[in-house]
Amino acid sequence: MSMQAVFCGVGEAFDENLPNTSILVQVKEDKNSRSALLDCGFTAASAFWGCSDDPLDLDAIWISHLHGDHFLGLPQLLLRFSEHARIKPLQISGVCGASSAVKQAMELAYPGKWDRLGFEIEFTEASSRDTFQLAGMQARAVPMEHPVPSLGIKLHAENRSLFYTGDGRLEKSFWPVLDGCDLAICEAFALEGDMPGHSSVSRVLSMAGLAGVRQTALVHMQRDERATHKDSLQKYFDQAQVTGFMPEPGDRVEL
Ligand SMILES: [Zn+2]
Repeated sequence: MSMQAVFCGVGEAFDENLPNTSILVQVKEDKNSRSALLDCGFTAASAFWGCSDDPLDLDAIWISHLHGDHFLGLPQLLLRFSEHARIKPLQISGVCGASSAVKQAMELAYPGKWDRLGFEIEFTEASSRDTFQLAGMQARAVPMEHPVPSLGIKLHAENRSLFYTGDGRLEKSFWPVLDGCDLAICEAFALEGDMPGHSSVSRVLSMAGLAGVRQTALVHMQRDERATHKDSLQKYFDQAQVTGFMPEPGDRVEL
């Protein structure tokens, strides 16, 4: 069994250089493979299509919260699936309200298309600490502090595990969730400092280090912060007790 994370996008909402943060998780076992896309914002659908080896085979989409840079790429993606004559059912799971928000977004973007997509969509909405299945992986929702209801997700397949924050501040209470994770993908909106509803590079690295995470990927950095500080991050990685890195779009990590 192998588990791989593909960073389709790593940007925040308005970064003109980076697609919105969106991660494709692929599990391969013998000849079977399963895949889930974690978040799909304004600019993520095209990025996903460019990164995936077989986009039509996608099993599931996770929506961490209802900000546009995390779910408003869905009308484009769903209609493209339809244009490519997809018939495979699609699971969409996410925060409470995701089901009606996706249908409304689809109706605004492409009126009348929802009922004629040509494939089934199975919605499940998760609450804090729910456990459920996402593309055949064990999933657990984790509440995040953010201006709107927001859920992180821990994915587990055999002996591999991954945690993705979506948007929100990492707290000490997350240690049991992060404990032993092979990869934590964490939003780090700023380099340092304490801000409500978001984490910083220094906060994420210290918490992930203390929690015993193997590797930590920093995503969703505010565009000006990223442009200013990207080249000076190495000193933060050198001092951290965890292997930290800032992925670029298209990067792949084997867990
Ligand atoms: Zn947000």
